[in-house]
Amino acid sequence: MSLRERLIARIVRDGPISVADYMDACLHDPADGYYATRPRLGEAGDFITAPHVSQMFGELLGLWAASVWEGLGRPARVRLIEFGPGDAILVTDALRAARAVPDFFGAIEAWLVETSAPLRERQKAALSSAAVSIHWTEHLEGIPDDRPVIILANEFLDCLPIRQAIWTDGGWRERRIGMDKTGELAFVACASSIPRADTGGNGDLLEWSDALAHFGQRVGALIARASGAALFIDYGRDRSGRGDTLQALRGHATEGVLENPGHADLTAHVDFPAFLVAGFAGGAIAAPILSQATFLRGLGIRARAEALARANPDQAGKIGRQRDRLIGPDGMGELFKAACLYSPGLHPPVFGAP
Ligand code: SAH
Repeated sequence: MSLRERLIARIVRDGPISVADYMDACLHDPADGYYATRPRLGEAGDFITAPHVSQMFGELLGLWAASVWEGLGRPARVRLIEFGPGDAILVTDALRAARAVPDFFGAIEAWLVETSAPLRERQKAALSSAAVSIHWTEHLEGIPDDRPVIILANEFLDCLPIRQAIWTDGGWRERRIGMDKTGELAFVACASSIPRADTGGNGDLLEWSDALAHFGQRVGALIARASGAALFIDYGRDRSGRGDTLQALRGHATEGVLENPGHADLTAHVDFPAFLVAGFAGGAIAAPILSQATFLRGLGIRARAEALARANPDQAGKIGRQRDRLIGPDGMGELFKAACLYSPGLHPPVFGAP
């Protein structure tokens, strides 16, 4: 049975399912989930992320990691952790940049947190000759906490399942996935309303994510226990807001989120304030949220682009376009945000530049 047929059977049996349960099935169902069975990243796949745009992205994150290591007092051993490493481009570029700081490079033990078996295989192949020890785990809880941690994640939080509520008939009602009269998957509003202080207008939509809050709390607690810092880059909001941000991406185009369960990447904009509040509840300090442009400029992306162009004059135009895609307002520069959690006592490890 296809995932769609199994979801319909489940809805017939149990009633409409939450958007979170739908996302979870579409992404991680062992037989049909997108990441579990057919993740396709990059130009020839379904979507492009910053590490695919340019090596500069991972390199600058590697330098950020080195500066955190300095701030931690140059510990002899440190765990460099990445959540959702995809094709392992980011970590490859970050490790290459880290070599420029030999004591840091020598201190690294890398940990990759990945649930997708096909992506784990790609990561193992890409990192087969890496000169640092690399460990894989499926959960944050698999990482020991007896050394400082430096955590990186790009486009990971947007995969965490969200729930939705819609204002209708004078109340917020959970927006779930059920069936229409023809037996096809369709959004439905639950009869019972969700108690909330704020009101809405007909059709207004709210999103929240228990998974994001739970993850934020656990990351905050890990950082507080082990000491260190975490950097999460993703598209999302830097203040609370309303609106439907659930989207399905296949072959670089959006499609209806109910159209092809398991065949498209399904994501939502990250509610960064909620994530950071959860991290704070877990014991970490939250730095101000920056745009990706401000963050990458602070790490010197312009100088790095110039150096790369000088070394590869025939590629100068392309390198400039890649830089603009990462920091331009029409590219990823403003939609994407950089959020950082760090352990109490550490110097704030983010700094932006106009
Ligand atoms: N960071 C990469 C890939 C982003 S795609 C890049 O920027 O190119 C999302 C990644 O998160 C994939 O590697 C996917 O398998 C992983 N992922 C999604 N949900 C996850 C979860 N709950 N736990 C661990 N990894 C997850």
